[in-house]
Amino acid sequence: MESTQNKPHVAVLASPGMGHVTPLLELAKRLVVDHGFHVTFLSITTDAPPAQLQLLSNPSLPSDLHVVSLPSVDVSQQANDVSVRIVLVVQETLKSLPFVLKNLQPPIKSLVFDPFCTIAHDVAADLSIPTYLFLTSSALFLALTMYFPTINAEVNGDHSKIAEEVLVPGCKPLLLDDLIPGVLMPELLLMSNRLPIVNGVLVNTWEELEPVTLHSIRESPFFLGLPAPPVYPIGPLTKEGELVTSALESSKLMTWLDQQPAGSVVYVSFGSGGTLSGKQMSELALGLELSQKRFVWVARPPSEASVSGNFFKASFDADDPASYLPKGFLDRTRGRGLVTSSWAPQVAVLSHQSVAGFVTHCGWNSVLESILHGVVMIAWPLYAEQRMNARFLVDAGVAVWPEAEEDNGKRVVGRCEVERVVRTILDEEGEGLRRRVRELQGTAAKALKVGGPSNGSLHRLAKEWRES
Ligand code: UDP
Repeated sequence: MESTQNKPHVAVLASPGMGHVTPLLELAKRLVVDHGFHVTFLSITTDAPPAQLQLLSNPSLPSDLHVVSLPSVDVSQQANDVSVRIVLVVQETLKSLPFVLKNLQPPIKSLVFDPFCTIAHDVAADLSIPTYLFLTSSALFLALTMYFPTINAEVNGDHSKIAEEVLVPGCKPLLLDDLIPGVLMPELLLMSNRLPIVNGVLVNTWEELEPVTLHSIRESPFFLGLPAPPVYPIGPLTKEGELVTSALESSKLMTWLDQQPAGSVVYVSFGSGGTLSGKQMSELALGLELSQKRFVWVARPPSEASVSGNFFKASFDADDPASYLPKGFLDRTRGRGLVTSSWAPQVAVLSHQSVAGFVTHCGWNSVLESILHGVVMIAWPLYAEQRMNARFLVDAGVAVWPEAEEDNGKRVVGRCEVERVVRTILDEEGEGLRRRVRELQGTAAKALKVGGPSNGSLHRLAKEWRES
């Protein structure tokens, strides 16, 4: 057997959060298991949620995948937006990166990082290490990133002047409201400016999920005119298997699912970080109750302050949902619904034959996991680029997006609307959505098979790194 020292060595760097670490860790595992690499996984521990630390200390990770924790840092600046907080933590943490990269042995062939870590490019370039951005979102988001300097120039850097409708060449018009929050635009610009200088961009998508956008990025005169590195669609890279969290809770949930009829359950979960207001939680609960449908709900304590209140806290510790769900809800829905308060083994749930629908915050990993398991969605975006993902899913014909109403200055999806969309996706009316998601599910499986386009992209990259 080849020793670790003789294997090609690459480093993978992820910003904090389950949605970032999970796909980068999957990439690392595939490089080790399928391509014979030695991978050092650089983990940012400051603000890392407990679930992330558990994921990275999992003893079943392959032996040639070494997790190295970057020294933790003190970040005194406060930030309300989750993405802005990540940017601050990454900036501070990566001050130790030059030292860490110089000392990796054998020297690494390349450094792969996620969009929040693009400043790592500058450090790697000083050390003549090739860099690759792994965009853990859609090709549409990549197209927007590539186009953003043009938008920025048009408004002379004043992002409040961006038009209501953004026309990324070759893509469907995007609504400004559906783009990322304004506070993130400077960060998007930084990433856009580094795009031309990285050696390649890996995207967690596949040809048949986003044919028009990928075609446009490759062929349209606008994109052809940009200095841009090669783009490698390598997805869907999603987690394989689950971290067993609370074994008891998980097995209770899976046993319950085993007892439900095929295609009868809707799964409700807002990713690792999403939280709802008290009012919204109560409307969602009452809507699920009105629908008379079966459900599994990861119902975390409400938060009035933030829609991503759990992002840095994601863990498997349970709260008591009875203390924050509407009075009597758990009794009235007993047997028909199952509530878990912190974490569900999401891939196991989505792949269960009883599950037919997913109320999701449209985090890109959740989106991919849902399509890969042929589950239609109710799009309930909360933060980051999730509204863009939601719009994409509706356009792709695999999701419905409930209407929110004004309620004391906040947008709330009322109980009758929840009832309506849950019925839509589970009943006869949802047949078109189900057919379309099954088609996409088939294309995803093909993309990943030996000979499939995503599998081929990763092969090409691995070959390039091995031979460099
Ligand atoms: N996840 C899970 N159980 C939960 C909540 C989330 O396994 O109860 C996993 C989910 O499968 C996905 C990741 O956490 O892989 C969340 O990533 P996503 O991009 O969907 O959203 P984020 O949490 O980054 O907003």
